[in-house]
Amino acid sequence: MPKCPLLIPPEGSRSFRVELPDGRAYWTVVDDAYLKVEVADRFLFDLRFGLDRSEGTTRMYAGELACFFRWCARTGRSLEEGATHLSSFVLALRTTPTARPGRGQGRPPGVARINHVLAVAREFYKHAVAAGSVSAEVLTGLYEVADDRHLPAELRPEGGGLRYHARPRHRLRTERAAAPDAASEQEWEALLEAASSWRDRFLLVLLRFGGLRIGEALGLRRSDLHFSASSTSVGCKVAGPHLHVVRRDNPNRAWAKSRDARVVPVGRWVLAYYDRYSQERLACPAADGSDFVFVNLSHAPFGAPMTASAVRQLFRRLSRRAGLARPVHPHMARHLAGSELNEAGVPVDVAQALLGHRRLSSTQVYTHVSDRRLRDAVDSVEARGLRRKEQRPGGAR
Ligand SMILES: [Zn+2]
Repeated sequence: MPKCPLLIPPEGSRSFRVELPDGRAYWTVVDDAYLKVEVADRFLFDLRFGLDRSEGTTRMYAGELACFFRWCARTGRSLEEGATHLSSFVLALRTTPTARPGRGQGRPPGVARINHVLAVAREFYKHAVAAGSVSAEVLTGLYEVADDRHLPAELRPEGGGLRYHARPRHRLRTERAAAPDAASEQEWEALLEAASSWRDRFLLVLLRFGGLRIGEALGLRRSDLHFSASSTSVGCKVAGPHLHVVRRDNPNRAWAKSRDARVVPVGRWVLAYYDRYSQERLACPAADGSDFVFVNLSHAPFGAPMTASAVRQLFRRLSRRAGLARPVHPHMARHLAGSELNEAGVPVDVAQALLGHRRLSSTQVYTHVSDRRLRDAVDSVEARGLRRKEQRPGGAR
């Protein structure tokens, strides 16, 4: 096989949205002349349509890759050299204030962001090597291969045999994940009071009690809501009122992040608010034809599915109207749901299933909260021990 030529990425690399004729879209990396950077484009296209990742993921990946490419170009490095000089890239990131608008603007990016950029770079290189665009040698710059031959026998896995594993060479150490920024119960109630339509109130109730992601709520169809006591007539065997979170490509770009569909049981609040919202919706004939649950009722295009940016604006408006000290973001209502599940003593695996987390670690961020739960745990173990002692023949000794 001929050796691949070195690839020099363009200095003006930037992320760019590409829409396919069928309406599906992904993000790629383009140069100054809006020409796709082939090696990145193949990776991002496969990520979106081969691995079925969301458009939002490709957008994030394209942004991080473009940032890495610009650094390579600025410092005169080929992609191959970039891979072996990742430490210099990390140093550059840690000392360069970010230009991206947002909370961190003007400060160097945090550890989590840097680790994310590094993870994206590794994924990109693995793909490029598999596709034959860069030499496999770059992987030795990204991973160290370790084996277990120096471990004491008792620490080696059962069954013997030498095992190898690849460990990323570059990763910043993170602090323990902080508890996510949850809305307080008072903040959420203030938003509910400030809301002026039943649609907005229903959305607030659904985010808090169902713990849905905003994309999941906006992607809901009326046919996903099984709000009767029994849904057997529509061919669903799940007992009690519930809704289904299903992953689809939606025209409002709402996207259920979980790969697996999940069932979320709903309680009285959600049902009552949905009733009121359904009444309100009748007054807007254009909404009748739409199967989406959340649609525009007060402005054009009437009946069109609500977008995530409209919801973000809504939350900003409600926060202002409620006179809150800080703006409450839609995702903070989901975090409130997570915290409340934890506070209510719901086991972490159950909370994980309800919230649709793929990894337990995402759910565990809610678990290091209160001293009260530690106390309860010790008390309940002690109480069990005492009970057993009393039940033993001969009683307590
Ligand atoms: Zn169902």
